[in-house]
Amino acid sequence: MAGTQRDAALVALFDEITTLAQASDDFEAAAHATLGSVCELIGWPLGHLWVPADLGDDFVSADIWAGSIEDFPALREVTLRTLFSPGTGTIGQVVTTGKPVWSRDVTADPLFFRAQQERDLRVRAAFAFPVVAADGVAAVLEFFSEQGAERDEPLLRMLTALGHQLGRVIDRQRVHQLVEGNRHRLRQLIETSMEAFISMDASGRITEWNAVAERMFDRPRQEALGRLLHETIVPPRYRKAEEAGRARFLSTGRSNVLGRRLELAGWRPDGSEFPIEIVVWATREDGEWAFHSFVHDITDRRRAERALREAYEAEQATVARLKELDAAKDAFIATVSHELRTPLTSLIGYLEVMADADAGVVEASPPGRRMLDAMIRNAARLQDLVEDLLAINSINPDRLEVDAAPVPVGEIVEEAVRVTAAAARDSGHGFQVRLDAGAGHVPGDRDLLVRAVGALLSNAVKYSATGTPITVHASAAGHQVAIAVTDTGAGIDADELPHVFERFYRTRYAHEHAIQGVGLGLTIAGAIAEAHGGTITAVSTPGEGSTFTLNLPVSAPGRPGGRGGRRTVGGRTGRSA
Ligand code: ADP
Repeated sequence: MAGTQRDAALVALFDEITTLAQASDDFEAAAHATLGSVCELIGWPLGHLWVPADLGDDFVSADIWAGSIEDFPALREVTLRTLFSPGTGTIGQVVTTGKPVWSRDVTADPLFFRAQQERDLRVRAAFAFPVVAADGVAAVLEFFSEQGAERDEPLLRMLTALGHQLGRVIDRQRVHQLVEGNRHRLRQLIETSMEAFISMDASGRITEWNAVAERMFDRPRQEALGRLLHETIVPPRYRKAEEAGRARFLSTGRSNVLGRRLELAGWRPDGSEFPIEIVVWATREDGEWAFHSFVHDITDRRRAERALREAYEAEQATVARLKELDAAKDAFIATVSHELRTPLTSLIGYLEVMADADAGVVEASPPGRRMLDAMIRNAARLQDLVEDLLAINSINPDRLEVDAAPVPVGEIVEEAVRVTAAAARDSGHGFQVRLDAGAGHVPGDRDLLVRAVGALLSNAVKYSATGTPITVHASAAGHQVAIAVTDTGAGIDADELPHVFERFYRTRYAHEHAIQGVGLGLTIAGAIAEAHGGTITAVSTPGEGSTFTLNLPVSAPGRPGGRGGRRTVGGRTGRSA
C-alpha cells in the first residue's frame, strides 16, 4: 500500500474505532472488531486478544481471534496454554511498560517464548499493543504475519492511541457493571423490604411495585405497573388533590408532601380503605422527575391506639366512680361516728358515775365492780376508735387546716403525758420527761400537737413491756424543735419500718400479740406534723426499742420568724428513718 494511501486508511481505521469505542460498552465486541479491521488494514492474517486471568496478575488468551486461526493449530494450542506474568515475555512486557512490542522474526526473538516451545508456528513477524484503561493495561491485542517484517513505528504510534480509545470501552463497561450491580442490589432491597415500595414517573404512572405493595393494595405487579397511581391506591375523594399536588411540584418545585412522614388513607380495588403511613421523595434522572415511596400499613397501630384510648377512658370512669364511692364512704363514716359519739359519751358518763363508789349510786359487789370496769374500758376503746375515724376522715381526702398560734412546747408534752397517763399507769409504765431550755414555743394548733405526741406516747406504752421506762425529750436545734419519744420495747423490723405511717398498717408483731389498735395513730400524727411544716422520723432496733421524733419548725411555715399563720395540707404524711 502506498504511503499516503496507507496513512488515509490508518486515519479511517482510527475514526472507525474511535466511533465504536465511544458508543460501546461491550469490550470483547469492540476488541474483536478492532482485531479484524487492523488485520485488514495491514494485510496480516491473524489477530488475537489477551486479557487478565480471573485470579492473580497474569494475562491469558481470551481465545478471541481475527482471521483463520484454524489454519494455525499449533499457534492456537500453545497460546491457549501460555500465561504471561507482568514483565515476562512479549505480552508481560506490554503489560508492565504500557508500550507496544514488535518481533521481526518470532523464531529469533528470545522474548517470544511460544516459538521456543513449538517449532512450527507458521508465523514470522508479530507485534502487540496495550489497551489502557483508567487503572492501567487492561488487555493486549496481538497480530501475526507469515513473513518477517520490520518494526513499523507510525503504525505502532497510531495503534497505541487506538489502545487508549479501547480503554474507554473497558472503563465504560466497568461503570456499567457497577451501576448494574447497584441496581440489582437496590432491586433486591426493594423486593425484600418489609414495607411496600412504590414509584411513579412524572405523569403519575406506577413504575415500581414490590411484593409487599402487591399484598397491601391487593393488586399484582403486572397489573399495577403503568397504571395511574392515584387511581390505584388513593381513595376517590383525595385523587384530585394528589394530582394537583404533583402538578404543583412539577411546575414550582414546592411540595407539602415530599420528605415528610404522613398518615393517609390507602385504598384497595374492592373500595375498602385502611390507614397508611407514607414517605415520598423525588429523584431526577436525565431531566425526568420520578417519585418513590415507602408505605406502611398502620391498621394494627391505630387499633392498638384506639384500644389504649378506650382503656384509659374506662379507667378514668372507674377512678371517678371510686372517688364518688370514697366520698360516700367518708360521709357515711363521719355520720356514723358523729352519731356514735354522743351516746358513747353519755354511756361513759353514766358508767363512771356508777363506778364512783363515793357517789353511792350503785352498791356493786366485787364481780359487779369488775364488770363495770370492763364496760368502762371497752366503752373508752370504742370512743378512741370513733375519734380516730373522725380524725382520719377529716385529714384525708379532705384537707387538714391548722390555726397556728404560739404554743409552749412544755405544755404540749405535759398535756400529752397527762392524756396517756391512765393507760401508762395501768401497764405500770413511767414517763421520764426532759425539757431542754431552748425548746420554747412552736407555732401550731395546741390540740392537734398534743394529739400527735399523745399517739407516739400511747404507742410506746402499747409496744413495750410492763414497767419499762419511756422517755420524752424535747430539744431545740437550729430552727427546729424535736420531741422524741423513746421506748425499750419490741422495736420494728427494717422491712416494716417504712410502712408504719401508712393508713391501717400494722406490723406482724402487733397482729401476733393482738395489741389493740387499727393502724391509724401514726397516719394521723404524720398528717398533723406535715400540716405544721414538720415531720415524724422513726428509728428502731427490733428487740431493743424505738424512737419516734416529732420535728417542728420554730417559725410558722411560709412566714420565717413570724408567729401564727395558717397552713393547709392534704393527705397523709410522716417519714421514717
Ligand atoms: P396502731 O393503732 O396499730 O398502733 P399506729 O399507726 O399508731 O397504729 O402504728 C402503726 C404500727 O406501727 C403499729 O401497729 C405497730 O406495729 C407499729 N408501731 C408504732 N409505734 C411503735 C413502737 N413504739 N414500737 C413498736 N412498734 C410500733
